[in-house]
Amino acid sequence: MNTIKQDTICALATAPGSGAIAVIRLSGSDAFAITETIFFPASKGLKIAQPEGHTAHFGLIKQREEVIDEVLVTIFRNPKSYTGEDSVEISCHGSIYIQQKIIELLLEKGARMAEPGEFSQRAFLNGKFDLTQAEAVADLIASESKTAHQIAMRQLRGTYSNRIKDLRTELLNFASLIELELDFAEEDVEFADRSKFVDLVNSISKEIEKLIHSFKVGNVLKDGIPVAIVGKPNVGKSTLLNALLQEEKAIVSDIPGTTRDVIEDRINIQGTLFRFIDTAGIRQSDDTIEKIGIERTYTQLEQASIILFLIEAEANLSLQKIKNQLSEAKINFESDEQKVIVLINKIDQLKADNIALNKQIETISISAKNKIGIQEIEASLMNYVQEFNIQSSSIVTNSRHIEAFNKSFAALQQILFGFENGIPTDLISIDVRDALYHLGSITGEITTDELLGNIF
Ligand code: GDP
Repeated sequence: MNTIKQDTICALATAPGSGAIAVIRLSGSDAFAITETIFFPASKGLKIAQPEGHTAHFGLIKQREEVIDEVLVTIFRNPKSYTGEDSVEISCHGSIYIQQKIIELLLEKGARMAEPGEFSQRAFLNGKFDLTQAEAVADLIASESKTAHQIAMRQLRGTYSNRIKDLRTELLNFASLIELELDFAEEDVEFADRSKFVDLVNSISKEIEKLIHSFKVGNVLKDGIPVAIVGKPNVGKSTLLNALLQEEKAIVSDIPGTTRDVIEDRINIQGTLFRFIDTAGIRQSDDTIEKIGIERTYTQLEQASIILFLIEAEANLSLQKIKNQLSEAKINFESDEQKVIVLINKIDQLKADNIALNKQIETISISAKNKIGIQEIEASLMNYVQEFNIQSSSIVTNSRHIEAFNKSFAALQQILFGFENGIPTDLISIDVRDALYHLGSITGEITTDELLGNIF
């Protein structure tokens, strides 16, 4: 196959440092020839360039007469390799000395160190995958939770980019009819059915709008769903965070207002990442440092997807009393943007559990100190995640994609505006090309050097 860059690159593929084994990757047209100069297979007479791809061979890496390591060499023939080129993976023992020594030898024999992202860049240039899939590889490696993994995996498998390619092809078909009209401008003919085109632009806009909307959800799922723990000083916020984290990271104290800074910690509940934000207690204060803390609380509050609002248990706690406390803290429990869960803490101090509430506000009775109700809190958090239903929908998590979607959306709106207002076809066609360009840039059907430089 035709590969664009043919020089041979090498790099450590496993994490830096020592481990049981390490893998060194080599890719390019001299990958086999270079390996042959330092690798001595156990089966005598075997030439690395001869065996079939996807086979592994045991042998020694030697520098002149000195044995550096016993290794396993895996061979991948172009185009059936990650990069699409001839590639070799050397699995050696994971000592830092051995790794360095083998890389040094490969460089000496004519390979060069790969730039960061270069293996993936070659894979893209050789048509092994599109840009969204290349980006998904990075996301997959970085994924820390089941949800982030699911999103990256789906992107890697191309479901999402295929949809974008389909939308673009539909638009492209009409665009070519419009361009054809421009070629016959003098004859005043119309090849493209205007009303069908408007319908198409509308339906593509709708899909793009959905994807744009998914971005917020997507990033929240990828980076961790922000949960703010809010309540008056001493109500038990730090104790609750500790109970959730099951380790002593937040400051627990009897002096009101000691949790002055915002403490943030991430926990993985049933495969989903949550970012817990413990905030300084909300109350009036003249203390400057505490005031800063209170201001931050409000900022954190706005960014949180879920608010855990703590109040202290008391006999005959009424719904009205809870509502009063919520409004005092400026929390809107009816908001569509945020889910509010009211946690009635210190229930262990109540003689009888006589808290009767209706279901207007979600409440959970807990004791942070005695770890009562923690599982109910976790279940309620998971209910929130289920609503996203990430299995079935396409989710955008990449800011490059969202920028391109926003630009395509704007161009599509211009097209609609143009048709509504009788703007000449040659001007509308500029917006059509614009929309095609931005959609194409997502998957890499259209690329620039600058774009590639930013990704790889
Ligand atoms: P914060 O100011 O809201 O962060 O409150 P802290 O977490 O520092 O807790 C204040 C005090 O309440 C500490 O003495 C905790 O031990 C106590 N506390 C927290 N949760 C409970 C609980 O469920 N029951 C009882 N009896 N005390 C609690």
